[in-house]
Amino acid sequence: MPAPYDLTRDELAALLAGEPAYRVRQVWEGLHLRVQRPDEMTELPTAVRTSLSATLSPALREVARRTADRGETTKWLWALAGDARVETVLMRYRGRVTVCVSTQAGCAMACQFCATGQAGFQRHLTQGEIVEQVAAAMRAARPRRLSNVVFMGMGEPLANYDQVWGAVTRLHGEMGLSARHLTLSTVGIVPGIRRLATESLPVNLAVSLHAANDSLRDELVPINRRYPIGVLAEACATYVAASGRRLSIEWAMIDGVNDRDADAEELVAFARPLSAHVNLIPLNPTPGYAVVGSPPERVRAFRDRLQAMGTNATIRVTRGVAIDAACGQLAATTAKTPVGLARTARAR
Ligand code: SAH
Repeated sequence: MPAPYDLTRDELAALLAGEPAYRVRQVWEGLHLRVQRPDEMTELPTAVRTSLSATLSPALREVARRTADRGETTKWLWALAGDARVETVLMRYRGRVTVCVSTQAGCAMACQFCATGQAGFQRHLTQGEIVEQVAAAMRAARPRRLSNVVFMGMGEPLANYDQVWGAVTRLHGEMGLSARHLTLSTVGIVPGIRRLATESLPVNLAVSLHAANDSLRDELVPINRRYPIGVLAEACATYVAASGRRLSIEWAMIDGVNDRDADAEELVAFARPLSAHVNLIPLNPTPGYAVVGSPPERVRAFRDRLQAMGTNATIRVTRGVAIDAACGQLAATTAKTPVGLARTARAR
């Protein structure tokens, strides 16, 4: 039996065969608009509620939940079918509430400094497993309304395109989230970016660049060997032209590796023609990468340098470091997945 948010409306109708026609709408809206579990749909006759609860079991089982930042950040560890583990992070800010969702259990991209990459790939998530992470966050955010979804948790969204896009259309079409508040983050899967440019929903695109010359990027982000920087820039330009959205570039600041003046210049050469906005992320510590993050004054100087050369840049305020919920730290540490051995970045 599919999970609640993997069901299509027709499949739900088939489950409710014999019930009055309005029942399908009632349950569908319960799931998507009121974000209820079947056992909470008190408007249903008891028999229907009981049988739905028995057939539509949740896709995510909570294994652990931790909070940080004075209760403003919540991280869940979920067990999925087959016992894969993924994490979800809810962040409450003054003007918005954002959830960061996982799209794969583990990740095959092997970025050196990323805990998920260090652990390797387990499996793709289904659309329903992705949507249910958002549903859980919506419930936990109450009475506030969850406004933003970022696909920046475990996994590479564009390596699981169909399920991720299924989740995007479900969140937008059925759960009231606007495309402007949905952000896909990619390591730079060029065919995926090109395909995104053909979609009618203009979601935000973030590209995890981290290096703007091929020799360093080949090392930090190995998929660069398949889709080098020139090809990536072209795909980004296509997306910006097609969607009309501003591109973001993610840049984890790594001490002595990508935080020098020459790095800023290369980054500007990439970002300026695309009118992209740069997000600087102070590198978060992970078990398998020995190099530390740039010191705060270096991060600020790097930002100022980008600004002076005409590229907008902001420093991302890090949430959840204490509970391993920060960027790149999601690795489902209570799972049995071994984390890679410590590596040191080669000096340039
Ligand atoms: N695979 C996607 C989305 C998941 S990673 C992607 O690569 O974009 C989300 C962001 O966190 C990416 O920008 C990633 O490069 C960054 N990140 C990974 N490890 C990090 C770390 N240790 N410190 C800071 N940012 C990190």
